[in-house]
Amino acid sequence: MFGKVLIANRGEIALRILRACRELGVRTVAVHSEADTEAKYVKLADESVCIGPATASLSYLNVPAIISAAEVTDAEAIHPGYGFLSENADFAERVEKSGFAFIGPRPETIRLMGDKVSAKVTMKEAGVPCVPGSDGALPDDPKEITKIARAVGYPVIIKAAGGGGGRGMRVVHTEAALLNAVTMTRSEAGAAFNNSTVYMEKFLENPRHIEIQVLADAYDNAIYLGERDCSMQRRHQKVIEEAPAPGITRKLIATLGERCAEACRHIHYRGAGTFEFLYENGKFFFIEMNTRVQVEHPVTEQVTGIDIVQAQLQIAAGEKLRFKQGDVEIRGHAIECRINAEDPFKFIPSPGMINTWHPPGGPGIRVDSHAYSGYIVPPHYDSMIGKVISTGHTREQAIARMSIALSEMMVNGIKTNIPLHQELMLDERFRQGGTSIHYLEEKLAKKSAAIKEQ
Ligand code: ADP
Repeated sequence: MFGKVLIANRGEIALRILRACRELGVRTVAVHSEADTEAKYVKLADESVCIGPATASLSYLNVPAIISAAEVTDAEAIHPGYGFLSENADFAERVEKSGFAFIGPRPETIRLMGDKVSAKVTMKEAGVPCVPGSDGALPDDPKEITKIARAVGYPVIIKAAGGGGGRGMRVVHTEAALLNAVTMTRSEAGAAFNNSTVYMEKFLENPRHIEIQVLADAYDNAIYLGERDCSMQRRHQKVIEEAPAPGITRKLIATLGERCAEACRHIHYRGAGTFEFLYENGKFFFIEMNTRVQVEHPVTEQVTGIDIVQAQLQIAAGEKLRFKQGDVEIRGHAIECRINAEDPFKFIPSPGMINTWHPPGGPGIRVDSHAYSGYIVPPHYDSMIGKVISTGHTREQAIARMSIALSEMMVNGIKTNIPLHQELMLDERFRQGGTSIHYLEEKLAKKSAAIKEQ
């Protein structure tokens, strides 16, 4: 195992990685921006290095500053967390070329999966079912584009090959709107992701978002840790996640999981990863692979008992997987609510000082958060301030525990989306399970229409 790991991230995931390191007896280096100097996890780390001002491009995305911090502290490996540089192949390459271990897949794998067009082509080859669409990037010729859309069938969705975080997508319902949508998505993608390549998929009208967690070591051993249902989304961003997915048979998941594990062997995948699928009418369609730890990894940890972040560290240190597929057993049910510093129904970010932070507890409750009373939520970054994860023997018990946890939780001084989560825990359709990716948006639209009428 490594002696010392540098954590190239911030917030709750920095704390999560720090905890995994401490449990394995690994010393830690926290790098931070000027906005995060006072964060408690920075103080908990064995060493800390300020890598720049609040603006992420000058600190958390500042590759030379992060590499120098690893050099001056004698760290052996770098954990990128999620977001920021975690899926940046050039960064992974720089880390390895500078003599450090990158806690994640090989740079060429990140590059391959980071381009959604090449990812889909590779997955199709590996026998993973994909959403029907343009097989590859859309050409420039308008006639060709129109032809492809007709063959795919409307509605279609135009997506950026370099897209992420739910951005760079446009749904097209009619041929009249097609070419304009392609032009707009291209130019937005060029500006946002420095890559104007776009592709087309059939827009699925009522799918669920189901994803498979995998672990693979450097010796082509690969296993899947079951699935997560992340269908509760707003603007293509996940709000609630759970494991297992309600109403989908273990047999279907096992078939899909095996395919994913096989695909890992095919591309010599190394580390933790997630295959994302849309699920409609009993069928799965691959949309993308995330080559990093995900925000929602705790629900899988809760139902499998496997620590995914520790596994990442062990794999990067050259260990063989400690589990075989037969060792992986799904027990009970876990739900995660992402707690954001924002208005619960208008979704306007609400940074500022948390006067009182009283996290919930009790049986089956896990809180992953770096917040505390007196913590100032900086305005510069993502608004997520933590996650509440409930685990029960059954889904009903997990929901009941989550409801109680949310009612106990006190966050004063800023606005949070806790009231939205409370409402969702009581929602009839959510309680039945199996809602589609459009459910939350539709519910919110109805709610705002009702408010306007009053
Ligand atoms: P990102 O990398 O930005 O997260 P994804 O390709 O993973 O982009 O898609 C994010 C979300 O967008 C999905 O979970 C789903 O809600 C929606 N989406 C993407 N592709 C389709 C599609 N073909 N049909 C319907 N919804 C889609």
